[in-house]
Amino acid sequence: MGFLQLNVLNQPEPLPAVGIDLGTTNSLVAIWENGRPNVVRPEGDNGYVPSCVFFPTDGPPIVGKEARERAVFEPERTIFSIKRFMGRGLADVAADLKSMPFPASSGRNGVIEFDVRGRKLTPQEISALVLEKCGEVAARASGGRALAKAVITVPAYFDDAQRQATRDAARLAGIEVLRIVNEPTAASLAYGLDQKKQGNVAVYDLGGGTFDVSILAIEDGVFRVLATNGDTHLGGDDFDRMLVAVASTELSHSVDPRKLDEPAFLQGLRLAAEKCKIELSSYPEAEMHIQIPDSNAQWRRRFTREEFEALSRPLIERTLDSCRRALSDSKLDASQIDEVVLVGGVTRMPAVRAAVEQFFGRVPHTQLNPDEVVALGAAVQAHVLSGGTREVLLMDVTPLSLGLETVGGAMAKIILRNATIPCQATEGFTTYVDNQTAIDFNVLQGERELASDTRSLGRFRLSGIPPMPAGLARIAVRFHIDANGLLTVTAKEQSTGASAHIEVQPQNGLSEADVQRMLAAAYANAKDDFAARRVAELETELGTMLRATEKGLVDARSQLDRETILDIEDAMKSAREACSTRDAQVLQRARDAFEKATMPLAAVLMDNFAKKALTGKIIGEM
Ligand code: ADP
Ligand code: MG
Repeated sequence: MGFLQLNVLNQPEPLPAVGIDLGTTNSLVAIWENGRPNVVRPEGDNGYVPSCVFFPTDGPPIVGKEARERAVFEPERTIFSIKRFMGRGLADVAADLKSMPFPASSGRNGVIEFDVRGRKLTPQEISALVLEKCGEVAARASGGRALAKAVITVPAYFDDAQRQATRDAARLAGIEVLRIVNEPTAASLAYGLDQKKQGNVAVYDLGGGTFDVSILAIEDGVFRVLATNGDTHLGGDDFDRMLVAVASTELSHSVDPRKLDEPAFLQGLRLAAEKCKIELSSYPEAEMHIQIPDSNAQWRRRFTREEFEALSRPLIERTLDSCRRALSDSKLDASQIDEVVLVGGVTRMPAVRAAVEQFFGRVPHTQLNPDEVVALGAAVQAHVLSGGTREVLLMDVTPLSLGLETVGGAMAKIILRNATIPCQATEGFTTYVDNQTAIDFNVLQGERELASDTRSLGRFRLSGIPPMPAGLARIAVRFHIDANGLLTVTAKEQSTGASAHIEVQPQNGLSEADVQRMLAAAYANAKDDFAARRVAELETELGTMLRATEKGLVDARSQLDRETILDIEDAMKSAREACSTRDAQVLQRARDAFEKATMPLAAVLMDNFAKKALTGKIIGEM
C-alpha cells in the first residue's frame, strides 16, 4: 500500500489543460505558458503529428511522422484522413472509402468499422491512436508529464454525431475533454478577436485535403457561426496533383508508363511535388526532382511561381466561390467583414493570400503560423476554462528572418520572419574543401537573398573539425531565440562534439522604421535578388564539381581515352570562364555541359570504388 502511494507520488504532475488541433492531415498540441499560447515541441522536433496510422504485419500500430514515412513504401497498410469518417455512416462516406486500404463494414449503431488484420477498428479508435501520439509528443516536450485534459477543435460544420465521436476518441486515449471548440473560433481566439465588442470575422481555412470558410459574428466576446461553406475534397493535395500531372506527362516520354503507376513511385512523386509547392511559397522558382525507377538518372524540372499559380488558379477560384456562398448565406456583403483570418498550410501561398485579400478587400491576419493558429487558440480556450485570465495578447514575433552566410555569399534563412518567440530551428552544414578543420559563421538578419544586402549580427568560428574530404563533416547549427528575444547560435560537429556559439540581441539598434525599410527593400529587389542567389549557388556548385574533377582526373586519367579527357578539359575551361560572367544562364549551361562531359569519369570512379569495396570485403572474409 505504502509502496503504491510512493509510486504515485513519484509521477510528475500532469500538464495543465492543453489545446489540440486534431486535423485531417496534421495534429498539433499547444499550451499556455508565460502569458501566451505556445506549440508544444520536443527538442529537435516541430511537434507536428501527421494524422496517419501505419499497421505493420505484426506489432503495434505506428503513428505520426514514422507512419507517414512508412506509407511511401507500403501505402496499403496506412490510414490517412481518418477525420473524414468520424461519426459518419457507411453511406455518407462511400466515395472516401475508395482510398481506404482496409475493408469497411457497418458495426453497432451504424458506426463504421475497418477490418485491419482481422481486428475491427472504428474511426474513434484510430483517432484515439493519433491523440495518444499527441500525448506522447507533449510528454516528451515536458519531461514526461502526462496530457490529461484538453480542448479539442473540430470543423464548424461537424454535427452532433461527429462531435460525439471526437469526444469518444479522446476518452479512449485517456484524455478528459474540457470543451469541443470550432476551428474558426479557435483561430479567432488566437488573434484575440474575442476582445472586440462586436464585428464580423471571415475565417478562410485551406488545409491538406479540405477547404472551409466560416463567417462568425462576435457579440461581447462570444462567437456565433453565421454560415459555413467549403469543399471537403479541396486542399493542398490538389495543388500537389497539378505538379504531379505535369511531371507524369513529361516522364511518360522517357519512362515505362507501368512504372509511373506503381504506388511507391506515385507516393514519391507526390512528396516531390509537395516539396516544390512549399518552396514556391518562399521563392520565385523551385525545382522538382525525382529518381527515375530502375536507373541512376533523376528527372528534374524547374517551375516558376507564375507557372504554378497559373496551374492552381482554378483551385483558388473554387475557394472563392465557396466564400461567395458563405457571404450570401450569412446575408452579409464583403464590405461588412471586419476581420479576415487565414488558417491552413496552403494559405502560405502568396497567390492565395492575394486572392483572399482582394476578395474581402482587407489585409488578412497572418502574423501567426497558419498551420498552428487553431492549436494556439484551443490552448487559449483551455487556459481560460481552467480559470486563467488573459489581459493583453502578447504576440512577440521575429520582425526579420535570421540565418547564415553560405559559401557563395547567399543568405540561408534558418528562422523565418514572423516566427513567434521563443523558437528554435536546426539546420545541417558541411565543409566545402578537403581537410577543412574550421568554419567561420556569419549570423545574418534580413529578407534579401545576398548576404551583402543583409545585416550581420556577429561572426564566430568553429574549429577542431577532424580532417576529412569535403562534404563529409556533419555540422548542426542551432538557432534559438528565448522568451526575451536573445538569439543563441550554436554550431556542433557531430563526430567529435566540438562546438562553438555566439549570443546576440537581434533587435539591438533596430527601430521599427529600420524593419519597414528592410522589408520594403526586400520586396522591391525580390526578382534581382533571386537571380543573384541563383548565380551564387551555381558558382558554388561549379567550384565543387571542378575540384572533384581535378582530383578524379589524377586518379583515373589512365582509364580514360584521349577524346574524353579533352572533352572534360574543355568543359572545365568553359566552367571557369562561366564563373567570371555572373550570368545565371551561362552558368547553368556550363554546369549542364560539365555534368555531361564528366559522366564517363564518374562511371570509372564509381566502378573503381565498387571494386575496391569488393576486394576489401573478400580479404576481410578470408
Ligand atoms: P489540415 O488542417 O488538413 O490538417 P494543414 O493546415 O496542416 O492541414 O495543411 C497541410 C497542407 O499545407 C499540406 O497540403 C501542405 O503541403 C501545405 N503547406 C504547408 N506549408 C506550405 C507552404 N509553405 N506553402 C504551401 N503549402 C503549404
Ligand atoms: Mg486544419
